Amino acid sequence: MMFLESDAWVALMTVIGEITFFFILGMVLTAIVLAIIATASITRGKFYLPRILIPGMVLLEGLVKAFCKLLGLDDKDLITFFITLRNTMNTKAFAETAVEHRAIFLPHCLRSANCPAHLTPEGLKCRNCGRCPVGENVKWLEEAGYHVFIIPGSTFIKRMVKKYRPEAIIGVGCLMEVKEGIDMADRMGIIAIGVVNFKDGCVETIADWVGVKDAAMLGIEAPSCPVDLHGSAK
Ligand code: SF4
Repeated sequence: MMFLESDAWVALMTVIGEITFFFILGMVLTAIVLAIIATASITRGKFYLPRILIPGMVLLEGLVKAFCKLLGLDDKDLITFFITLRNTMNTKAFAETAVEHRAIFLPHCLRSANCPAHLTPEGLKCRNCGRCPVGENVKWLEEAGYHVFIIPGSTFIKRMVKKYRPEAIIGVGCLMEVKEGIDMADRMGIIAIGVVNFKDGCVETIADWVGVKDAAMLGIEAPSCPVDLHGSAK
């Protein structure tokens, strides 16, 4: 009790209080600066100061998001920006990962409403029937060396990741699916690149196949045969 009333204790508590105050103030000010840079990047369509923005966002993502909202950004713009940011952060490591250690997860809603394929414990087994662009794209992705999964939900991703242990993955889907997938991959220590669908929904969604190809070919040679990446989807 005597020690708790001593000058030394009071001085120690004062120093700890001051350090905490300045630490929090520093975090808030940094988050405000990062939010301004992020907002300017989004509204002007340019990536400003990525060397500051990327590590800053890793440390202060939640706070920066809150300030971005205060600056008038809507959720969709913000999520799109975060996906672009994460993709940029992960591009080098992804490109350096051997294709045998990569996997790609496609949402099953990309298939035709008349898809004849059946769901298996490892996702949909595409028959490349020609009714949708999934078949031809799965074919070249597998030829390039990818493990390809056509999945109905994120629980499949967790299961397949546990089973096949990919080091890098491409996640294709709607905005929120891709964001959550990238966050999940981060938590699992996997390098992730996200490609957002052109058209979302529950049936016959449309993937950005050119974006998928750009991501899939990072660090590896282009396929020997040209493919129609847009398929029949309009
Ligand atoms: S190409 Fe594959 S995913 Fe598309 S409809 Fe045929 S079997 Fe289904």
